[in-house]
Amino acid sequence: MKINDAYIKFDCTLIEGIATFYDSIKEMNKIRTELFDLGLIGISGGIGYGNISIRTSNDSFLISGTQTGGKRILDTRDYVEVLSYNFGENSVICKGFVNASSESLTHAAVYEYNENIGAVIHVHHQSFWEKILNKVPATDIDNEFGTVDLALNIIKLFETSDLAETRIIAMAGHSSGIISFGEDISSARDVLLEYYHKFGIS
Ligand SMILES: [Zn+2]
Repeated sequence: MKINDAYIKFDCTLIEGIATFYDSIKEMNKIRTELFDLGLIGISGGIGYGNISIRTSNDSFLISGTQTGGKRILDTRDYVEVLSYNFGENSVICKGFVNASSESLTHAAVYEYNENIGAVIHVHHQSFWEKILNKVPATDIDNEFGTVDLALNIIKLFETSDLAETRIIAMAGHSSGIISFGEDISSARDVLLEYYHKFGIS
């Protein structure tokens, strides 16, 4: 955890309620389980890693909940809709039964860039990450996960690199962390797996 003035603890206000995007959840789950089976989403040392999201309207998105990484197949209650977010306060308001991932603002930063971005995937994989680290747009080494700085770093990366074309980010300050995105969840998956195969991970 980063201890300095720039770090503000992630705050999630949860409104209890069922997420009502059954068809979307079905599609997300199919892709999420594919990624789980490749070890890109999972659990390590008791801590779940990896999360996926789809945009549900202009400023809201549906994301897998915190600490769901260890489950191979999620159910509806494992997803939560982020209704609004605030980068300055590192906070979100969400609807569901489980808190949103502390990496939700990282997803939000990607959605901020362009309204055509409809899905974001965040995974962890050590050797994949090492191979792409100096070859694709990367966030700064001192920007750790779940920080406001990381979200701002991603927004800046769209302006200073070819991220809009590559659609993949290596997170230099978040060891083994990778983000991909696309107009929908299957294209975000395709981008990720294109690099995965291109760099000979399997
Ligand atoms: Zn992560």
